[in-house]
Amino acid sequence: MVTMAESKARQREDAKDKRAAHSQRVNGFPVENKLRDMQFKLAHNLQCSLDLYTTLELFFNNVREAVTLDGLRYSTPTAGVEYSLGDQRAHTVNYNLSTNENPLGQIIFSRAQKFNESELAALEMLLGVLYYPLRNALLYQAALHSSLRDPVTGIGNRAAWDAAYQREVKLATRHGTELSLLVIDIDHFKQVNDNYGHQQGDKLLKHLAKTLQDSLRETDQVFRYGGEEFVVILNNTNAKDAALTAERIRLQVAMSPALINDQEVFASVSIGVAHLCADDDPTSLFNRADCAMYAAKRAGRNKVSCG
Ligand code: GH3
Ligand code: MG
Ligand code: MG
Repeated sequence: MVTMAESKARQREDAKDKRAAHSQRVNGFPVENKLRDMQFKLAHNLQCSLDLYTTLELFFNNVREAVTLDGLRYSTPTAGVEYSLGDQRAHTVNYNLSTNENPLGQIIFSRAQKFNESELAALEMLLGVLYYPLRNALLYQAALHSSLRDPVTGIGNRAAWDAAYQREVKLATRHGTELSLLVIDIDHFKQVNDNYGHQQGDKLLKHLAKTLQDSLRETDQVFRYGGEEFVVILNNTNAKDAALTAERIRLQVAMSPALINDQEVFASVSIGVAHLCADDDPTSLFNRADCAMYAAKRAGRNKVSCG
């Protein structure tokens, strides 16, 4: 028979054991109850952001509270993403993540010492919390990406241009670096629409966007400004090199026919060039390049003019 006092004492002992188990660490990482708390905290923290990089950073920092880690690498070829956090070391463990519908990429944890079984189990428990926040962050990134892309040509649209242009002019002004701008307009584009139809006109726009991209350095940024007009931001480029780049583009366009209704159609462009001066702001720089483009039109088209 157990007395009331003995029963109370046993309850107190049980509660003490539970608390001890809760805070116990095995092989350097917390036991199950503690991990559940961490899962809960991680799930809560991951709700704070839809940004992919922030999500991975939060995940990495939270997981490090449970398992010693030096680095994390995340990649997803489908979204063209590759991020590295911390320091990458010799011992790695890889996980290919996917939900029922979608592949979510690969995560590689790394550190200097080998991972043991219980640490791997802990990593897997915490990875379970990452799936849906990661999927949401990838969806958000894809939506953001498509809101800044021109659907016809696949290059940056007007919204992307506005943001990038303001940013680049501000940076070049602040750091005193060179910046040039090209405004490019297709010559007699209306005739292409009139002769072959709008769908074929779109094909020429796509062809031209590709020709521009192929003629530029990776650091140059090309956007569809609207209609059949394109703009190019040339970072760290002085006026002379910008004029040479514009001439190279003009020639490349004139020499690269588009295949329209199985026919080779040659297009040409008129290009206005402007270089950022000390007293320029985004509007004055753009206006000079735009006016120069109209001067190239007046000069007979298929020309480069510097403003
Ligand atoms: P110019 O040499 O003076 O620049 O002549 P242009 O014919 O190129 O210029 P204009 O401004 O007269 O005509 C531009 C045409 O571009 C008219 C418009 O229908 C066409 N356009 C604008 N956006 C699109 C588009 O997204 N797709 C197609 N196919 N055509 C477009
Ligand atoms: Mg035109
Ligand atoms: Mg135009």
